[in-house]
Amino acid sequence: MKAVVSLNSGSSSIKFSLFVLEGDGALQLSAGGKIEKIGIAPTMIVRSVEGGVLLERDWQDGAALTHADLLAHLFAWAADHPLKGREIIAIGHRVVHGGTEFAAPRLIDAALLDKLEALCPLAPLHQPHNLAAIRAIAALRPNLPQVACFDTAFHHDKPEIASRFAIPRALHDQGIRRYGFHGLSYEYIARRLAQIDPVLAGARVIAAHLGNGASLCAMQAGKSIDTTMGFTALDGLMMGTRCGSIDPGVVLHLQTQLGMSPAEIEDLFYKKSGLLGVSGISSDMRTLAASKAPEATEAIDLFAWRVAREIAALAASLGGIDGLIFTAGIGENDADIRSNICRRLAWFGVQIDELANAGNGPRISMPDSPVAVLVIPTDEERMIAHHSLNVIGTGV
Ligand code: ADP
Repeated sequence: MKAVVSLNSGSSSIKFSLFVLEGDGALQLSAGGKIEKIGIAPTMIVRSVEGGVLLERDWQDGAALTHADLLAHLFAWAADHPLKGREIIAIGHRVVHGGTEFAAPRLIDAALLDKLEALCPLAPLHQPHNLAAIRAIAALRPNLPQVACFDTAFHHDKPEIASRFAIPRALHDQGIRRYGFHGLSYEYIARRLAQIDPVLAGARVIAAHLGNGASLCAMQAGKSIDTTMGFTALDGLMMGTRCGSIDPGVVLHLQTQLGMSPAEIEDLFYKKSGLLGVSGISSDMRTLAASKAPEATEAIDLFAWRVAREIAALAASLGGIDGLIFTAGIGENDADIRSNICRRLAWFGVQIDELANAGNGPRISMPDSPVAVLVIPTDEERMIAHHSLNVIGTGV
C-alpha cells in the first residue's frame, strides 16, 4: 500500500501527517503529530486518527539534535509502525513563499530549491525552516519525490490592485507587494464549501482563518480576490503574538526615538505583540477566555473588533458578501469569539443563531440571515498530500 507524508516545518517545530492511499484513490489519514522544542529539549508526539497516543518521546539533552536528526527518528519509527508495509511515494511540504513565480505546487529539484532559497529574505522566520526540512529529507531519502506547496499560491492570481502597496512602482517591481498567506487552508475551505453548499461556493465568501496566525480571504467563486496578509505574515489581523497591520510610523519611531534595532523590532512584532502583548498574560485564546483580568477581555475584544473591521473592508473588495466561514483553532472552536465578531457585523446582514453557534455546525446563521455563516474545519495537511499526489502523477 502507498503512503504520502505532509510536513510543515517551522523554526522549532515540525508538524506531520501520514496518509495512506486507499484502493479507490482516497487519502486516508493514518497518524499525525508534532516535533517541538527543536534546539532546546525536543519532544515528539504521534497520535492515531482517533486521538490515541502512538508515540511520545523526549530528548532532555537533545539541544544539538537538528531537524534532520529528528526527522530521521520519525521516519525510522514510522516505518515500523503506522507506515509498516507501506511505501512512501511522496513527501509534500508547506513552503510559505512562492514569490511572484509559483502559482501552483511544484516537484522539488536543485534548481527549484535555489529559487526558493532566494525568497528567504521575504519570509525569514519561515522559509529557511521549510527548506531545511526539504534538504533533510533529500539527504535521508534521495530518490523520494518531494513537492513544494506554497502558502502564497492560492492568492497568486488576485487582481493587481489587491497586490499593490502605495509605494513607488520600482519597489513593487522588486517584489515588495501584497502576496497573502494561509493559501492551503483557503484552498481546502473553498473545496469543502463546494461540497457543502455549491451555490454559496459560487458566490461572494469571506473565510476567516483564526489560529495562532490569523487572516481573512475574500473569495469570488472560490478564487482569492483579496486577503489581509500582505508582504509578510505579519500584516492584517491581530494574532497570537503578531501585531497585524500597524502604522509604519510606529516602526520609524521605535527605531529613531527608542533606539530599537531591526532584530528587536522583528522580535517585538512577531513574538511579543498580538493577544500576548495586549493581555500581558498569554497568546492562547483559551487561557485568555478563562481569565478574569480586564486586560484579557480587552485583548479578546480588540481581536474580535479587528476581525469584524477587516471583514467589512474585504466585503468592499467583493462588492458585497453572501457567506462568512470560520476556520482554524479559534474559528472552529471558540463560539464566544464567533458570536462577538458576528454581533459587530449584524448591521450588514450577519445574523447568527446562538443555539447553532454552540453546536457542531456547519451552518450557524439564522435561516433567513442575508449572510450565511458556517464553521468548516480546515485541513492544510490533506491539501498538501492531495497536491503531492497530483504533482507526481498519482492524483485522483
Ligand atoms: P496554528 O496557527 O499554530 O496552527 P491553531 O489553528 O491550532 O494554531 O490555533 C491555535 C489557537 O486556537 C489558540 O489561540 C488556541 O487557544 C485556540 N483554540 C484551540 N482550541 C480551542 C478551543 N476549544 N476553544 C477556544 N480556543 C481554542
